[in-house]
Amino acid sequence: MQPQTQAANPALADVKNILAVASGKGGVGKSTVSSNLALALKKIGQSVGLMDADIYGPSVPLMMGLGSADPQTAQFPLEKYGLKLMSMGFIPDATKGVLLRGPMVAKYVGAFLTQIPWGALDTLVIDMPPGTGDAQLTLCQTANVRGAIIVTTPQDVSLIDAVKALNMFRQLKVPVLGIIENMSYFVGDDGKRYEIFRHGGGKKLAEETGVEFLGEVPIDPRVAECGDAGEPLVHKYPDSPVAKAYLELAEKV
Ligand code: ADP
Repeated sequence: MQPQTQAANPALADVKNILAVASGKGGVGKSTVSSNLALALKKIGQSVGLMDADIYGPSVPLMMGLGSADPQTAQFPLEKYGLKLMSMGFIPDATKGVLLRGPMVAKYVGAFLTQIPWGALDTLVIDMPPGTGDAQLTLCQTANVRGAIIVTTPQDVSLIDAVKALNMFRQLKVPVLGIIENMSYFVGDDGKRYEIFRHGGGKKLAEETGVEFLGEVPIDPRVAECGDAGEPLVHKYPDSPVAKAYLELAEKV
């Protein structure tokens, strides 16, 4: 099926760019990259939305410090840190139990893209579920995706699955904008650089697959602290090396 043009979908009619942030595996930092990239894009002057397409394991509410909202009264998308946000995690469990039937992932990803009034946005960042499945297909059938960003960690076990994610977007005719290597290295208090999960796999993969290498994000314990505290690092520590890596990424995509 051909992707609809944005104009054919009123909910996305004024959204200029849709970026999908994807990974082959869970736990590589895809949601962390999505949240911090969204904030970095905002910081460079864009109007930004963040859609959490991980229907079964939504991370955006925790990372943005928001809980569930009453669907009867809440105005979706919710807003925090100047971002427009939508996630399955905003819908209370009691309501979800009734709603979560049928081909659920496709249904909810489709609903988020067609029924949430996103308004005028420069960029809508979509935090994809890990892997290669229904959500990706629905996204590409419902919206005009400008490009996908693949997040990987440096070690082979993550890189192998990153290739699968990359190939799937290519099959769906979505341009792959590039690869970002997360948890690339760690700089200790001694100033030394430690390559905990090896290093350079993301760059090598980009070369091998002919896509741009978008950069590396170091390991910083404050990333996890911020994620758990509901205030992403780009917002809380804007001068940190990790925040700078995200601002550079925002300029590139
Ligand atoms: P995914 O969305 O790929 O499943 P998450 O974004 O949830 O992964 O990240 C998994 C865990 O790793 C989280 O606890 C997050 O805070 C942590 N994390 C991600 N990136 C970094 C980093 N660069 N440095 C330190 N911790 C990180």
